[in-house]
Formats: sequence, C-alpha cells, structure tokens
Amino acid sequence: MAAKHPPNTFKNSSPEAQRRLAYFLAYFNDRRDQILANIRQLVEIESPSDNKAAVDRVSEAVAAKFAALGGRVRIHQARDFGNHLQVDFAGNSGVKPVLLLGHYDTVYPLGTLASMPCKVIGDKLAGPGVLDMKSGIALMLHAIAALQDWNSGDGRRELPRPITVLLVSDEEVGSDSSRRITESLAKKSAAVLVLEPSYGFDGAVKTARKGVGDYTLKVTGKASHAGLDFQKGVNAILELARQIEKVSGFTDLNKGLTVNVGLVSGGSRTNVVPAEASAQVDVRIARLKDAAGIDKKMRGLRPFNRKCKLEISGGINRPPLERTAGVAALFTKAAAIARDLGWKLGEAAVGGGSDGNFTGALGIPTLDGLGGVGDGAHALHEHILISELPRRAALIAGLIETV
Ligand SMILES: [Zn+2]
Repeated sequence: MAAKHPPNTFKNSSPEAQRRLAYFLAYFNDRRDQILANIRQLVEIESPSDNKAAVDRVSEAVAAKFAALGGRVRIHQARDFGNHLQVDFAGNSGVKPVLLLGHYDTVYPLGTLASMPCKVIGDKLAGPGVLDMKSGIALMLHAIAALQDWNSGDGRRELPRPITVLLVSDEEVGSDSSRRITESLAKKSAAVLVLEPSYGFDGAVKTARKGVGDYTLKVTGKASHAGLDFQKGVNAILELARQIEKVSGFTDLNKGLTVNVGLVSGGSRTNVVPAEASAQVDVRIARLKDAAGIDKKMRGLRPFNRKCKLEISGGINRPPLERTAGVAALFTKAAAIARDLGWKLGEAAVGGGSDGNFTGALGIPTLDGLGGVGDGAHALHEHILISELPRRAALIAGLIETV
C-alpha cells in the first residue's frame, strides 16, 4: 500500500515536541566527541563483577559525573559485590519518576585492556564493556544534561519529571545483591528505561526477553571395580545420561521454552564404575505462566535406577520480560520519537535476560535495549558504532520527556 503521508510528516507529535527533538539532535551532534570521551573513560576503568574494589572504582567515577549534573547520589553498600549507585534528579513532583536502569560491571577480568584496548577503528569504538554497557551509562549522563539544558533554556527550571538512575554492580552474575533495590525503585516509577545494548546494527530495542533458570542435577551411585566387581557398582553417569535425555525433552519451542544441558561432569577413571555425576542446566522461558510448570517438572525428576540418589537444586532466577500492553505502549512512543528523528525503530524479542526482566514482571512498563548500537557483547570484538550515539541520546532524552 502506498504511504498516505510524505516521509517527513510528523503526525504523531506536536510542533513543540519536534522542536525539542531537533534541539536534542543538534545538541548531541555538537557533543559527540564528549560523549565518546566519557565512554572511553568508563571503559578504561575495568570492572569485573567479581572484583569489588574495581567495581567500586568505576562506581565512584560514575557517581562524580552524575553529581556534577546536580543529582543526589546515594550509595547502596554491598558486601560481596561492588556498591550499587542510585542518583535522583528532582523534577515536576506531580508526576512519577522515570527509572533509568543499567549496570557497570562487566564480564571481563582485570587486565583485559592489555589485549583488548579501548580504541577507535573507523566508526567503531571497541573495548571491554563498551557495548554492555558503559556506552549506556554515558548516554544516560548526556541525555539528562540535554534535558536540563532544554528546560532551563526555555525559562523553566525543573525537569518535566523526576529521574532516578540506578546502576548496579552484579547484573552479569545474576543481580542477587541488587534485585531488591531495582524492584523497589521500579515500583515507584512510571516507566523503566533500560540502557542495555540494543539489538542488531539497526539499533532495535528489546520488548521481550526470556526468563532464565539454572538447575544442577547431581546423581550419586556406587563405585566398584569395572573388572572385578562390575555388578556391585551403580553407574551414576549412566543414570545422569538418562536424566539428560529426559530434561532435554522438556523443551517446547512453540512456547519459547528451552532446556539446555550445558555442563556435565562425573567419574574418576575408566576402570571404575562411577559413583558421582552431575549436570548444569540452563532453562529459558518466554512466558511467566510457564515458570511454575517447568520448575515442577525439574523438581519432580526421580531416578530411573532406584539404587541411585538424585538431587536437584536451583530454580528460575529471572522472570521473563513479556511484551505487555504497557511495554507495547512505551515502544509506540519510542518509535514515534525515532520517526520524528528520521529513522524507523525496530523491536526485538531476545533470549537473554537483564534487570529489565525484574521490573517488567512487576507490571511496570519497561523498554530495554535503549543503549549503545554495536556488536560483540562479552566477546573479543565488542564495539559500538560512534555515528549512532547522537540519535540514540536524542531518543532517550525524548522518551524521558514524554513517558
Ligand atoms: Zn548488560
């Protein structure tokens, strides 16, 4: 069907909104090098999840940047992980805040920069954690600065709504120590914008993420000499193999439910009937309503060989982020802003989880994948596209204004 409107007709937004977006885009184009410099600074402070001192260093650097914009900094102390950082910006107190959510831990061990330096290659900025998600942190900073600039320039003093920033230190290792903080701040917010990496080189946002579970199956049999006493042994590996076949059969692709046995161990040597074997299992669910069912199936496993003992531990630790009406409405707003900025914003459903899963499961409208555009998260070629930064920042600033 032919388009009813010429390509540059902004039928979804007011002239005021269009003026604002044009202002943001020009603002960020002018400051592209500053955004880039900020990202580099953050990438060059390595922050693996399991090193508290390192993560606290990046936390302090980030806190100073937000404080310089006038945000009220609150540190949530964590004992076993880096501290979590909350920053509040005052705004029109008649409306609920928007929560900008992310993390500053990375999957890269200390010293990674030596072999994987932070560097510009053409339009790419490469480095550990640059996409996931230090560019997202810099985008938050600059979006808030632009909103302050726009609103003060207009003779108004306050932001259109309060903004809460939450950056956690343990997202890459399951968010156990930060989940409670994320959930309590989300409950007070009108919407949650998650600045995790976008999807694909077109920068699609994420409107659905699978929930994640981890289980361990441990089988205990009985050891014996494979030659002398074969019949006295109870082979734990054989039992585990049968269990693996069974749990793999729980996969239901139509429901978006997958069960992956990713790690197995067992036995001591070839001439011994093995007394022990275990498997680690990754479970993904697209729908919250499937969580209880798969959990029951996993916990309901019984040994095929009654002489074996079977122990099951673990559970579903992240609920899925489902594309609810609230999520869809938020995406529609984002797509309208992108259209005003001259591009078509896509959306994606992905298998990986983030802290947006927690906030979405509470029923708070959550839009994820608003951060950097690039490729290679957690991999040697991790990078962002520098040219995408201005319009990405404009999208985020525009969303904060209109959420
Ligand atoms: Zn991430």
